[in-house]
Amino acid sequence: MKRVVVIGGGIAGLSAAYSLREHLKQDEDLEIVILEKNPATGGNIKTEKINGFLIEGGPDCFLSEKPWAMELCKRLGLAGELLPTNENNRRTFVLSGGRLHELPEGVILMIPTRIMPLALSSLITLRGKLRMALEVFIPRKRSREDETLGDFVRRRLGREALDKIAEPLVAGVHAGDPETMSIRSSFPKFVQLEEEHGSLIRGMLKRLTSMKKSKAGHNTAGGPAVTMFMTLKGGLSVMIDTLTSDLLKYGNTSILTGEAATGVAAIGGGYEVRLENGALRTDAVIIASPAYAAAALLSGFDPELSRKLLTIPYVSTATVSLAFKKSGIKHPLNGFGFVVPGAEKRRIMAATWTSVKFKHRSPEDSVLMRCFVGGAKNSSLTLLSDEEMVRMVREELKDIMGIEESPVLARVYRWKNSMPQYTVGHEERVNRIEEQLAKYPGLYVTGSAYHGIGISDSVRNGEVVAKKALHYLFGK
Ligand SMILES: Cc1cc2nc3c(=O)[nH]c(=O)nc-3n(C[C@H](O)[C@H](O)[C@H](O)COP(=O)(O)OP(=O)(O)OC[C@H]3O[C@@H](n4cnc5c(N)ncnc54)[C@H](O)[C@@H]3O)c2cc1C
Repeated sequence: MKRVVVIGGGIAGLSAAYSLREHLKQDEDLEIVILEKNPATGGNIKTEKINGFLIEGGPDCFLSEKPWAMELCKRLGLAGELLPTNENNRRTFVLSGGRLHELPEGVILMIPTRIMPLALSSLITLRGKLRMALEVFIPRKRSREDETLGDFVRRRLGREALDKIAEPLVAGVHAGDPETMSIRSSFPKFVQLEEEHGSLIRGMLKRLTSMKKSKAGHNTAGGPAVTMFMTLKGGLSVMIDTLTSDLLKYGNTSILTGEAATGVAAIGGGYEVRLENGALRTDAVIIASPAYAAAALLSGFDPELSRKLLTIPYVSTATVSLAFKKSGIKHPLNGFGFVVPGAEKRRIMAATWTSVKFKHRSPEDSVLMRCFVGGAKNSSLTLLSDEEMVRMVREELKDIMGIEESPVLARVYRWKNSMPQYTVGHEERVNRIEEQLAKYPGLYVTGSAYHGIGISDSVRNGEVVAKKALHYLFGK
């Protein structure tokens, strides 16, 4: 029987293992061993239920536009668990000049698609609005050379769109710095819109028209409406728990938690994965850990490959969830939350009004919100103690939203070196890693470090290497 060892039990590693099982033919015998150094699978995905609150420590949703996470949920029998956002309150606010301003309706990511809401917006100055509108006349870039998100947005939509919208909203997804982030690797859709339509606004309008036409197909069969962000009623850990238990139902699959791989070596036409106590011989290895952890595993095996993996930088973040009695909150909470541009010099990057964004998150008489701390520009804030971090976040919420109430619950989740940064030249760096890896058939790296950063991309990335591994092992 052939064996595959998957190192890392985050969503990418579990998706890879599940895809191996899904595509295996009856006459193909394969043992799968998943090694996860933490006591539980899930990686960054962690849902906790405390006193009637459902708290996401890491991600709280996935993008429906990238279909792989939703498709996986359906294959796992979780279609009925899918939960859209609460569309009655789909507003997002941006802090500017110390006040919360509504992001004009029709601004999709950072691209305006409706004139009136933009014209009436208090967020952008008249000059900034005119500059954004001029986008349709800016010629497309001639070279295919990568550029930073900052340069791209200044070039197409102007400085104010960068500072007040793209930086907090778009770069915020990656906890990144727009002056170093690669537009091509982080937001390939924007580049594609420019290349294909010569304008982001024109391209987005065309896409919206064609989406409206195909709206009939926009509901999951018998399931809920599909919104831009989707989650699961019981939290994203349901996806991890179902993957984990379904994998264990197949024979010849083991998930060893609390078991870190310490190295990988080539041995007798296959590989050996070293553990703290012992080693596993295997035909193929899928490393689904962060890139720097893959670098450590491969440092003795191929120092050059290991150095290349280390060229992908990571930043640290933390989330702080606070719950309050509804009666004590004067703010109307009329949206999904707010983002904070760097120019505001605050100590949080964003806040989600969780119990407004999704149902089933808090008891009726309470509200749940969570704030993001750290990221590329403020990683050191994640080093504060829990007490200091909660105090800091409360001070920020008092200034921004006028909340003076004491929380009935406070939880801090730290995510050290957890967000890979796709800086300019990322595509080139990944190509070099993959060229070097191609020397070792049966050895793969996957996860959010290489070809897409969110949950949906991580699912797809896991599935892609699973197919490659099956092809290598069984020649199909
Ligand atoms: C705070 C936060 C909020 C986020 N919000 C969103 C969101 O709302 N939507 C979204 O789509 N994405 C979001 N993301 C990104 C999302 O979490 C990631 O895309 C995804 O979880 C990455 O999965 P992964 O399997 O590649 O990596 P990970 O989740 O990092 O899993 C890697 C696993 O490898 C294990 N490992 C490492 N070294 C070893 C070793 N030597 N041996 C064995 N195991 C090892 C680790 O313990 C870990 O479990 C967020 C991330 C963070 C940190």
